[in-house]
Amino acid sequence: MLYHSTRSRQNVVDSAQAVLNGLAPDGGLYVPAQLPCLDVKTCLQENTMAMATRIIGAMLPDVPQMPELVSKAYVGKFETEELTPTVDTGKFTVLELFRGPTSAFKDVALCMLPQLLTKAKSVKGMPEDILILTATSGDTGKAALAGFQDVEGVKICVFYPHGGVSAVQRAQMVTQEGSNVTVCAVEGNFDDAQTGVKNIFANAVDGTLPGGTGARLSTANSINIGRLAPQITYYFKAYADLLKRGQIAMGDEVNFSVPTGNFGDILAGYLAKKLGLPVGKLICASNANNVLTDFIRTGCYDRRRPLHKTISPSMDILVSSNLERLLYFMSQDTDLVAGLMAQLNTDGHYQVPGELLKEIQTEFWAGCCDDEGARQTIGKVFREQGYLCDTHTATGWAVAEEYVSQTGDQRPMVVLSTASPYKFPAAVLSALEESNEPDEFKQMERLQELTGVPIPGNLQGLQQKKELHTGVIPKDQMLPFVTKL
Ligand SMILES: *Cc1c(COP(=O)(O)O)cnc(C)c1O
Repeated sequence: MLYHSTRSRQNVVDSAQAVLNGLAPDGGLYVPAQLPCLDVKTCLQENTMAMATRIIGAMLPDVPQMPELVSKAYVGKFETEELTPTVDTGKFTVLELFRGPTSAFKDVALCMLPQLLTKAKSVKGMPEDILILTATSGDTGKAALAGFQDVEGVKICVFYPHGGVSAVQRAQMVTQEGSNVTVCAVEGNFDDAQTGVKNIFANAVDGTLPGGTGARLSTANSINIGRLAPQITYYFKAYADLLKRGQIAMGDEVNFSVPTGNFGDILAGYLAKKLGLPVGKLICASNANNVLTDFIRTGCYDRRRPLHKTISPSMDILVSSNLERLLYFMSQDTDLVAGLMAQLNTDGHYQVPGELLKEIQTEFWAGCCDDEGARQTIGKVFREQGYLCDTHTATGWAVAEEYVSQTGDQRPMVVLSTASPYKFPAAVLSALEESNEPDEFKQMERLQELTGVPIPGNLQGLQQKKELHTGVIPKDQMLPFVTKL
């Protein structure tokens, strides 16, 4: 199956090459020239693994042996065989995406990406090792480390801002085992770490570092189509669960509310709809960084604003990369997309044509919720539904409520839950009771005592685990550090 860039149709590659390349040479993102056909009814009757095999296989048909790859990626790694269970809270249905090895929704994609990448590498006869470089503000780093741990032919190096991630997140990363993993703190903030990584890429010649070990540089971020494709599956899985519970009949439309940052998760929902799943509205939920709310309401994307630090840090983003793919899918116009992206780069904003905005608004609805609103929602959902959710999920829940009250839309609503409440214990605990406890691990214990919701296995006993990666380097030392890997 052929893929080309969102910004031009000139260079086409097959789906295996698209996974290997990550980003198209013109800076655009890879999109399929034509979406595949999927037998939706059959797919909905299958178990999650078979569903994943069918869907990822349809999106990436040039990566062979998909059943083996799916089973290597997921079997025994998640808390449940169904990977992403749904919970009927009596009000909304919650789709739990955080039952994976690091308790974050990114596990769904980052368990699969290494399998896709190494298979694509062997199909394309690429002999060099791949070196994955990632700067993380907390969540992605650990999920990527866990996904790539001991994967042959791949090394991974994660940089995080020294003092800039939570104690739990740091403990998760610095205790990571694996012969091919490196974790290092950088003196500076997340932007410094991110800039450092971009700098390293800019120093590469034909994908490798001069004077280095010859490994090909790559990233694990969500612009890779190999990260997006696995996320389509759980929309089907949620729909199948509603069918099984008799809450819908085949063909009924279901709405999804998605806590959104880089627009990857919600775009997977749009792709599920394009593949034939009866999806109603896709609700784009943001925190105080509400660039996307403004965009979906007005058609004007404007990143010229301060970045707010919130209690839902995985959504603290001003430039949502995957939105570029939506603009392409909806307009089919690569010149338009190239122009808008160039304008975003030079002017910091763009406005889409009225026709395109109308089309976006038929598929999407958007809202935002600040920290106070998220805290109140956590408290209310726990008191009224007996369900404990994290800060990102609370944002999705609050915006879903706003949507229903403004539109009166009665179709079933699925709220995507993107993290375990135990990944953000300070904020979640403060939503339930006054607390002066500064220690995050004690906060977790208190939260468990208070709610009866068990701490996930991977977050238990983190404090006792051996710290394997304690290095801290100045930000200007990142390039020499990586050159030695
Ligand atoms: C990454 C992340 C999101 C945002 O997902 P996008 O695909 O970037 O929109 C939301 N919640 C959590 C917990 C995340 O880690």
